[in-house]
Amino acid sequence: MNEQLASLIKLQQIDSDILDKRRSIGAIPLKISVAEKLYKESVAAFEKLKQRYESLEKKKRDKERILDDINERIKKLKTRMTEIKTNKEYQAHLKEIESAEKEHYAVEDEILIVMEEMDVSSREIKLQEKKIRTEKEKMEALKKELEREKEEAEKGLLTLREARAKIGDGIDKELYDRYITLIESGDGVVVTEAKEEVCQGCNMNIPPQLFVEIKRNEEIMQCPQCNRILYYKGDGQESTAVQ
Ligand SMILES: [Zn+2]
Repeated sequence: MNEQLASLIKLQQIDSDILDKRRSIGAIPLKISVAEKLYKESVAAFEKLKQRYESLEKKKRDKERILDDINERIKKLKTRMTEIKTNKEYQAHLKEIESAEKEHYAVEDEILIVMEEMDVSSREIKLQEKKIRTEKEKMEALKKELEREKEEAEKGLLTLREARAKIGDGIDKELYDRYITLIESGDGVVVTEAKEEVCQGCNMNIPPQLFVEIKRNEEIMQCPQCNRILYYKGDGQESTAVQ
């Protein structure tokens, strides 16, 4: 195989690997922010649960204050009993006490309901507290893992760039410039295989005469459709000339 072509194939491989690594490094901040956002949402939902509990506590205190007032009223009504002279007045007073007592029981029931709600709420809080702790641990582990992946990929990039420079140095300037122009205008794949008379870059048919030339791997040949540099890898039976 033409040495320049072999170098171009290697250069393309390295550039594809570099692109892959850069893509995966680029995707990491988004992965982290998604994990953080999910965790923040859980924390916000948890805060809401706690607020609900606090509002129930306040409701209970308010009702207890009302209950105190009612009890105070009953107490006063009962003390005034002794000052009552007529039977009619006595009956009316008794009725007043009775209705105050009814009020007392009603408020007491309401307090019980609030306390039950508080019970449910506090159990839910405890459950969510546990969940949130697990979520936080998971998120932090994921972040660590992603940071580690990023470091690995960055190290890999350094190695790839060193290898790239070495191979780049061995390619003729005109050819290297042509490669760069092509790679900058396309999707990152410039050197590709010609397989069964089809360019694997654009999937268009290659004229038979040209394919014969490409199969020899002796010249730098470009696809008439997409301009990609083509090489032939063999049909799978013979070993490839690419090392
Ligand atoms: Zn093509």
